[in-house]
Amino acid sequence: MSLAFRKPQSQLLTQPKTISVLGSTGSIGCHTLALIEANPQRYQAVALAAQNNVEKLIEQSLKLRPQLAVIGNPDKFLQLKQALAGTGISTAAGPDAIINAATWPSDIVVEGIVGAAALAPTLAAIRRGATVALANKESLVCAGELIRNEMRKYGATVLPVDSEHNAIFQVFDFERPELVEKLVLTASGGPFRTFTQAQMRNVTPEMAVKHPNWSMGAKISVDSATMMNKGLEMIEAYQLFPVKEHQIEVLVHPESVVHSMVEYRDGSMLAQLGPSDMTVPIAYALAWPLRIKTQIPRLNLAEIGSLHFEAPDEIRFPALRIAREVLVAGNAAQIVFNAANEVAVEHFLTGRLSFLRIAEIVEETLTKTAGKNLPTSTLEEILAIDALAREISNNLV
Ligand code: MG
Repeated sequence: MSLAFRKPQSQLLTQPKTISVLGSTGSIGCHTLALIEANPQRYQAVALAAQNNVEKLIEQSLKLRPQLAVIGNPDKFLQLKQALAGTGISTAAGPDAIINAATWPSDIVVEGIVGAAALAPTLAAIRRGATVALANKESLVCAGELIRNEMRKYGATVLPVDSEHNAIFQVFDFERPELVEKLVLTASGGPFRTFTQAQMRNVTPEMAVKHPNWSMGAKISVDSATMMNKGLEMIEAYQLFPVKEHQIEVLVHPESVVHSMVEYRDGSMLAQLGPSDMTVPIAYALAWPLRIKTQIPRLNLAEIGSLHFEAPDEIRFPALRIAREVLVAGNAAQIVFNAANEVAVEHFLTGRLSFLRIAEIVEETLTKTAGKNLPTSTLEEILAIDALAREISNNLV
């Protein structure tokens, strides 16, 4: 058949895909909305939800004209309602309204909410059989098994947006997973990769939120500096891909050009490379299994010249060792790991906790909850462990 008979992809689209964006004012949300704005014939935002930043939500809503705009914080509802009065955009507030945004009819739900707060909305989207472009790692870390069960039951799809997992998703042979020997998650090593233990003692929140390669939110920047982020990502990878615990490795790669790799049993390593810009994995998730054009600057490998790799130092970055232990210990430990870390990071950001104490608080909370035989098969059970871990870690601080 001649290529001249093949219609360009854009003409095959009869109507734009509809998108709900949870966490629309955060980093993932803003990148997503920029892609929607740049591709109006392909995508249309139908529901936007944000937790606190009502000014930005109003601005986004006036520009993209969704059917629904939701603010998590009820104190900001009046402001949202007044600003969008007469536009035809429905408004709502509170945690139930965020869940309503997750279940709003749309082709794709982009889940960009930070932390364990994303758990309930993610499950709600899955239970309506949605395609979820999942940037939130905590929902997989805390409820990976429950999410997989519900995906099967309701015919939902989860597409990983986290750059490492999106990279693996692009090169993983899902039809023949037995050919995969290991997953190699790359890590930038964060801003303190070359710091001594003594230097790390004096790290301030301002220093920790400045990431060398990626522009991200405060919580994930601190997680990147402690390498807790990579620990969470090891668990996330375990939940997303059919591999065993020992098949997941971490490799420090300061340039953040290789976003992760899959090593096959013949010795081949397949990697995804790209600019350090979340636009790429989000575009892949929105367009999957196709690809859309993006305008971001291309990688110039000749200019970059050389790439570096090194083994992670688990003495200065105990997060990776702790993550490997909780991976084996099971789901309850993974929930505790995540919750204790969220609490510790919050206290670090407000100056009540030193940088090196973050990993210690996580480990002490794990010790206090070990051997407790905590069930994890429902959302309520998961949230109960999350609450218990938060209480223990708060007391420790
Ligand atoms: Mg990542």
